[in-house]
Amino acid sequence: MTCADPVANSDQTILDYLFRPMGVDGVYARTRRYEDVVDALQSLISRHRPDEAVVFRFPPVMSLRQLEKQGYLNSFPQLLGCVCALHGTEADVAAAVNRAKEGEDWTRGATSAGLVLSPAACYPVYPIAAENGPVPEEGLTFDVAADCFRHEPSKDLDRLQSFRMREFVRIGAPAQIVVFREQWMKIAESIAESLRLPFVFDRASDPFFGRIGVLMAANQIEQALKFELLIPVRADSAPTACMSFNYHREHFGKTWELVDQQGELAHSGCVAFGIDRLALALFAMHGLNVEEWPGDVQEILRLK
Ligand code: 5GP
Ligand code: ZN
Repeated sequence: MTCADPVANSDQTILDYLFRPMGVDGVYARTRRYEDVVDALQSLISRHRPDEAVVFRFPPVMSLRQLEKQGYLNSFPQLLGCVCALHGTEADVAAAVNRAKEGEDWTRGATSAGLVLSPAACYPVYPIAAENGPVPEEGLTFDVAADCFRHEPSKDLDRLQSFRMREFVRIGAPAQIVVFREQWMKIAESIAESLRLPFVFDRASDPFFGRIGVLMAANQIEQALKFELLIPVRADSAPTACMSFNYHREHFGKTWELVDQQGELAHSGCVAFGIDRLALALFAMHGLNVEEWPGDVQEILRLK
Protein backbone atom coordinates (compact mmCIF):
# COMPACT_ATOMS: atom_id res chain seq x y z
CA MET A 1 0.00 0.00 0.00
CA THR A 2 1.27 3.49 -0.74
CA CYS A 3 0.57 6.44 1.41
CA ALA A 4 -0.58 9.51 -0.47
CA ASP A 5 -1.61 11.29 2.70
CA PRO A 6 1.26 13.15 4.35
CA VAL A 7 -0.68 13.37 7.62
CA ALA A 8 -0.24 9.66 8.14
CA ASN A 9 3.47 10.18 8.61
CA SER A 10 3.83 12.58 11.48
CA ASP A 11 7.22 14.08 12.33
CA GLN A 12 7.44 11.71 15.29
CA THR A 13 6.80 8.59 13.18
CA ILE A 14 9.31 9.73 10.57
CA LEU A 15 11.84 10.57 13.26
CA ASP A 16 11.49 7.13 14.84
CA TYR A 17 11.80 5.33 11.50
CA LEU A 18 14.43 7.32 9.69
CA PHE A 19 16.56 9.23 12.17
CA ARG A 20 18.18 8.96 15.56
CA PRO A 21 18.34 11.96 17.89
CA MET A 22 21.76 13.47 18.56
CA GLY A 23 20.82 15.62 21.54
CA VAL A 24 20.12 18.85 19.64
CA ASP A 25 17.01 19.93 17.70
CA GLY A 26 17.57 19.93 13.95
CA VAL A 27 20.66 17.67 14.06
CA TYR A 28 20.02 13.98 13.43
CA ALA A 29 21.79 10.72 12.70
CA ARG A 30 20.39 9.31 9.48
CA THR A 31 19.57 5.65 9.03
CA ARG A 32 20.40 3.49 6.02
CA ARG A 33 16.75 3.48 4.93
CA TYR A 34 16.91 7.28 4.64
CA GLU A 35 20.43 7.51 3.22
CA ASP A 36 19.63 5.07 0.40
CA VAL A 37 16.99 7.56 -0.76
CA VAL A 38 19.40 10.48 -0.34
CA ASP A 39 21.97 8.65 -2.52
CA ALA A 40 19.28 7.86 -5.08
CA LEU A 41 18.23 11.52 -5.24
CA GLN A 42 21.82 12.66 -5.67
CA SER A 43 22.27 10.18 -8.53
CA LEU A 44 19.01 11.28 -10.16
CA ILE A 45 20.19 14.91 -10.06
CA SER A 46 23.61 13.89 -11.42
CA ARG A 47 21.89 12.31 -14.41
CA HIS A 48 20.55 15.79 -15.25
CA ARG A 49 23.97 17.44 -14.90
CA PRO A 50 24.93 19.54 -17.92
CA ASP A 51 27.96 17.95 -19.66
CA GLU A 52 30.00 21.12 -19.38
CA ALA A 53 29.51 21.46 -15.61
CA VAL A 54 32.66 21.55 -13.49
CA VAL A 55 32.14 19.52 -10.32
CA PHE A 56 33.19 20.50 -6.80
CA ARG A 57 32.26 18.92 -3.49
CA PHE A 58 32.96 21.35 -0.67
CA PRO A 59 33.69 20.61 2.97
CA PRO A 60 31.09 21.75 5.53
CA VAL A 61 33.29 24.74 6.41
CA MET A 62 34.48 27.73 4.39
CA SER A 63 36.63 30.80 4.87
CA LEU A 64 35.21 33.37 7.31
CA ARG A 65 36.88 36.17 5.31
CA GLN A 66 35.26 35.04 2.07
CA LEU A 67 31.82 34.98 3.65
CA GLU A 68 32.36 38.42 5.20
CA LYS A 69 33.55 39.80 1.87
CA GLN A 70 30.33 38.86 0.11
CA GLY A 71 28.30 40.73 2.75
CA TYR A 72 26.75 37.76 4.55
CA LEU A 73 27.04 39.46 7.94
CA ASN A 74 24.84 42.31 6.75
CA SER A 75 22.24 40.00 5.27
CA PHE A 76 21.92 36.88 7.48
CA PRO A 77 24.03 37.21 10.66
CA GLN A 78 21.32 35.38 12.63
CA LEU A 79 21.87 32.18 10.66
CA LEU A 80 25.64 32.00 10.78
CA GLY A 81 27.64 29.47 12.76
CA CYS A 82 31.35 30.04 13.16
CA VAL A 83 34.13 27.67 14.13
CA CYS A 84 36.06 28.60 17.26
CA ALA A 85 39.06 26.89 18.78
CA LEU A 86 41.31 27.19 21.79
CA HIS A 87 44.36 29.14 20.71
CA GLY A 88 47.47 30.16 22.62
CA THR A 89 50.02 28.31 24.68
CA GLU A 90 49.61 24.93 26.32
CA ALA A 91 48.96 26.83 29.55
CA ASP A 92 46.14 28.83 27.92
CA VAL A 93 44.51 25.65 26.63
CA ALA A 94 44.95 23.92 30.02
CA ALA A 95 43.34 26.91 31.76
CA ALA A 96 40.27 26.61 29.54
CA VAL A 97 40.05 22.88 30.22
CA ASN A 98 40.26 23.55 33.95
CA ARG A 99 37.45 26.08 33.69
CA ALA A 100 35.35 23.35 32.08
CA LYS A 101 36.14 21.00 34.97
CA GLU A 102 34.83 23.65 37.35
CA GLY A 103 31.58 23.78 35.44
CA GLU A 104 32.36 27.08 33.72
CA ASP A 105 31.85 27.81 30.04
CA TRP A 106 35.21 26.91 28.49
CA THR A 107 34.11 28.18 25.07
CA ARG A 108 34.50 31.76 26.32
CA GLY A 109 38.23 31.24 25.88
CA ALA A 110 37.84 30.01 22.32
CA THR A 111 38.43 32.34 19.40
CA SER A 112 37.76 32.22 15.67
CA ALA A 113 39.52 29.56 13.64
CA GLY A 114 38.93 31.67 10.52
CA LEU A 115 36.19 29.32 9.42
CA VAL A 116 32.42 29.38 9.28
CA LEU A 117 29.97 26.55 8.70
CA SER A 118 28.89 26.97 5.08
CA PRO A 119 25.35 28.35 4.92
CA ALA A 120 24.96 27.54 1.21
CA ALA A 121 26.74 25.18 -1.15
CA CYS A 122 27.54 27.69 -3.89
CA TYR A 123 29.36 30.40 -1.91
CA PRO A 124 32.90 28.98 -2.24
CA VAL A 125 32.62 28.56 -6.03
CA TYR A 126 32.68 32.25 -7.04
CA PRO A 127 36.22 33.04 -5.78
CA ILE A 128 37.41 29.80 -7.40
CA ALA A 129 35.81 30.84 -10.70
CA ALA A 130 37.38 34.30 -10.44
CA GLU A 131 40.88 32.78 -10.20
CA ASN A 132 40.67 31.66 -13.83
CA GLY A 133 40.42 35.18 -15.24
CA PRO A 134 37.59 36.57 -17.41
CA VAL A 135 34.50 34.40 -17.87
CA PRO A 136 34.44 32.82 -21.38
CA GLU A 137 31.73 33.84 -23.91
CA GLU A 138 29.78 30.64 -23.26
CA GLY A 139 29.77 31.30 -19.51
CA LEU A 140 30.57 28.83 -16.73
CA THR A 141 28.52 26.05 -15.17
CA PHE A 142 29.25 24.24 -11.90
CA ASP A 143 27.80 21.32 -9.99
CA VAL A 144 28.49 21.84 -6.28
CA ALA A 145 27.36 20.35 -2.98
CA ALA A 146 28.01 20.78 0.72
CA ASP A 147 26.63 20.04 4.14
CA CYS A 148 25.15 23.39 5.14
CA PHE A 149 24.46 24.92 8.53
CA ARG A 150 21.88 27.53 9.48
CA HIS A 151 21.20 28.45 13.07
CA GLU A 152 17.46 27.80 13.10
CA PRO A 153 16.85 25.21 15.84
CA SER A 154 13.43 23.63 15.41
CA LYS A 155 11.66 20.39 16.16
CA ASP A 156 10.24 20.30 12.62
CA LEU A 157 11.97 17.71 10.48
CA ASP A 158 11.89 20.02 7.46
CA ARG A 159 13.84 22.67 9.39
CA LEU A 160 17.26 21.19 10.10
CA GLN A 161 20.28 23.05 11.39
CA SER A 162 22.56 20.80 9.34
CA PHE A 163 21.34 19.68 5.93
CA ARG A 164 22.62 18.70 2.49
CA MET A 165 22.43 21.12 -0.41
CA ARG A 166 23.20 20.35 -4.04
CA GLU A 167 23.42 23.16 -6.58
CA PHE A 168 23.98 23.94 -10.23
CA VAL A 169 25.55 27.35 -10.64
CA ARG A 170 25.76 29.47 -13.80
CA ILE A 171 28.05 32.47 -14.27
CA GLY A 172 27.85 34.58 -17.42
CA ALA A 173 25.80 37.23 -19.22
CA PRO A 174 22.35 38.19 -17.82
CA ALA A 175 20.55 36.42 -20.67
CA GLN A 176 22.50 33.21 -20.01
CA ILE A 177 21.43 33.24 -16.37
CA VAL A 178 17.80 33.89 -17.22
CA VAL A 179 17.74 31.00 -19.71
CA PHE A 180 19.53 28.71 -17.22
CA ARG A 181 16.98 29.47 -14.53
CA GLU A 182 14.02 28.94 -16.85
CA GLN A 183 15.42 25.63 -18.05
CA TRP A 184 16.01 24.42 -14.52
CA MET A 185 12.54 25.36 -13.37
CA LYS A 186 11.23 23.11 -16.17
CA ILE A 187 13.61 20.27 -15.29
CA ALA A 188 12.70 20.60 -11.60
CA GLU A 189 9.04 20.39 -12.51
CA SER A 190 9.59 17.18 -14.46
CA ILE A 191 11.68 15.71 -11.62
CA ALA A 192 8.94 16.46 -9.06
CA GLU A 193 6.31 15.00 -11.41
CA SER A 194 8.34 11.85 -12.02
CA LEU A 195 8.65 11.43 -8.24
CA ARG A 196 4.89 11.96 -7.90
CA LEU A 197 5.40 14.85 -5.53
CA PRO A 198 2.70 17.53 -5.67
CA PHE A 199 4.23 21.01 -5.92
CA VAL A 200 3.69 24.69 -6.58
CA PHE A 201 6.13 27.37 -7.68
CA ASP A 202 6.16 30.71 -5.93
CA ARG A 203 8.19 33.87 -5.83
CA ALA A 204 10.20 33.95 -2.61
CA SER A 205 12.61 36.00 -0.55
CA ASP A 206 15.50 35.13 1.71
CA PRO A 207 15.25 35.75 5.48
CA PHE A 208 17.21 39.03 5.43
CA PHE A 209 18.08 40.35 8.88
CA GLY A 210 16.54 43.35 10.61
CA ARG A 211 14.52 46.30 9.41
CA ILE A 212 16.57 46.91 6.27
CA GLY A 213 16.12 43.22 5.60
CA VAL A 214 12.39 43.75 5.18
CA LEU A 215 13.11 46.13 2.30
CA MET A 216 15.68 43.79 0.78
CA ALA A 217 13.22 40.91 0.88
CA ALA A 218 10.48 43.05 -0.72
CA ASN A 219 12.92 44.10 -3.42
CA GLN A 220 13.89 40.48 -4.06
CA ILE A 221 10.25 39.53 -4.55
CA GLU A 222 9.47 42.54 -6.70
CA GLN A 223 12.39 41.80 -9.01
CA ALA A 224 11.53 38.06 -9.07
CA LEU A 225 15.08 37.17 -8.08
CA LYS A 226 14.06 34.01 -6.23
CA PHE A 227 11.55 31.27 -6.99
CA GLU A 228 10.90 28.21 -4.91
CA LEU A 229 9.38 24.83 -5.64
CA LEU A 230 7.22 23.99 -2.62
CA ILE A 231 5.99 20.54 -1.67
CA PRO A 232 3.50 19.70 1.10
CA VAL A 233 5.34 17.74 3.75
CA ARG A 234 2.76 18.13 6.51
CA ALA A 235 -0.97 18.45 5.97
CA ASP A 236 -1.45 21.06 8.68
CA SER A 237 1.13 23.57 7.51
CA ALA A 238 2.21 25.50 4.45
CA PRO A 239 4.19 23.58 1.82
CA THR A 240 7.95 23.44 2.26
CA ALA A 241 10.54 24.95 -0.09
CA CYS A 242 12.48 21.99 -1.46
CA MET A 243 14.29 23.69 -4.36
CA SER A 244 15.16 27.31 -5.08
CA PHE A 245 16.00 29.14 -8.32
CA ASN A 246 18.06 32.22 -7.68
CA TYR A 247 19.27 35.13 -9.80
CA HIS A 248 22.01 37.07 -7.95
CA ARG A 249 22.46 39.67 -10.70
CA GLU A 250 26.02 41.08 -10.40
CA HIS A 251 26.34 40.52 -6.62
CA PHE A 252 29.04 37.84 -6.78
CA GLY A 253 30.58 39.35 -9.93
CA LYS A 254 31.17 42.58 -8.03
CA THR A 255 32.45 40.86 -4.89
CA TRP A 256 34.94 38.65 -6.71
CA GLU A 257 35.70 40.88 -9.72
CA LEU A 258 34.24 38.28 -12.03
CA VAL A 259 34.16 39.92 -15.45
CA ASP A 260 33.41 38.89 -19.02
CA GLN A 261 35.76 39.21 -22.01
CA GLN A 262 34.83 42.92 -22.38
CA GLY A 263 35.44 43.66 -18.70
CA GLU A 264 31.71 43.90 -17.81
CA LEU A 265 30.69 42.42 -14.45
CA ALA A 266 29.46 38.83 -14.79
CA HIS A 267 26.03 37.87 -13.49
CA SER A 268 25.25 34.61 -11.70
CA GLY A 269 22.41 32.35 -10.70
CA CYS A 270 21.97 29.01 -8.99
CA VAL A 271 19.43 26.26 -8.63
CA ALA A 272 19.54 24.66 -5.18
CA PHE A 273 18.15 21.24 -4.27
CA GLY A 274 17.43 20.73 -0.58
CA ILE A 275 18.35 17.05 -0.56
CA ASP A 276 17.08 16.38 2.97
CA ARG A 277 13.79 18.14 2.29
CA LEU A 278 13.29 16.21 -0.95
CA ALA A 279 13.99 12.92 0.81
CA LEU A 280 11.62 13.86 3.62
CA ALA A 281 8.92 14.84 1.11
CA LEU A 282 9.23 11.41 -0.56
CA PHE A 283 8.79 9.56 2.72
CA ALA A 284 5.96 11.85 3.83
CA MET A 285 4.14 11.39 0.53
CA HIS A 286 4.75 7.74 -0.33
CA GLY A 287 5.16 6.13 3.06
CA LEU A 288 8.00 4.90 5.20
CA ASN A 289 8.68 1.68 3.29
CA VAL A 290 10.44 2.34 0.01
CA GLU A 291 9.43 -1.13 -1.25
CA GLU A 292 5.81 0.06 -1.09
CA TRP A 293 6.34 3.27 -3.08
CA PRO A 294 4.77 3.51 -6.54
CA GLY A 295 6.77 1.31 -8.92
CA ASP A 296 7.59 4.16 -11.32
CA VAL A 297 8.97 6.27 -8.46
CA GLN A 298 11.20 3.38 -7.35
CA GLU A 299 12.30 2.93 -10.95
CA ILE A 300 13.14 6.60 -11.53
CA LEU A 301 15.21 6.51 -8.35
CA ARG A 302 16.68 3.14 -9.36
CA LEU A 303 15.68 1.75 -6.00
CA LYS A 304 14.54 -1.55 -7.52
P1 5GP B 1 17.95 28.70 0.09
O1 5GP B 1 19.37 29.11 -0.11
O2 5GP B 1 17.11 28.92 -1.13
O3 5GP B 1 17.35 29.25 1.34
O4 5GP B 1 18.02 27.14 0.35
C1 5GP B 1 18.19 26.22 -0.70
C2 5GP B 1 17.47 24.95 -0.34
O5 5GP B 1 18.06 24.39 0.83
C3 5GP B 1 16.00 25.16 0.03
O6 5GP B 1 15.17 25.17 -1.10
C4 5GP B 1 15.74 23.97 0.92
O7 5GP B 1 15.35 22.87 0.15
C5 5GP B 1 17.08 23.73 1.58
N1 5GP B 1 16.99 24.26 2.94
C6 5GP B 1 17.00 25.54 3.35
N2 5GP B 1 16.82 25.61 4.70
C7 5GP B 1 16.68 24.35 5.13
C8 5GP B 1 16.45 23.77 6.42
O8 5GP B 1 16.32 24.45 7.44
N3 5GP B 1 16.34 22.42 6.49
C9 5GP B 1 16.47 21.64 5.38
N4 5GP B 1 16.35 20.31 5.53
N5 5GP B 1 16.69 22.15 4.16
C10 5GP B 1 16.78 23.48 4.03
ZN1 ZN C 1 23.43 29.10 -4.52
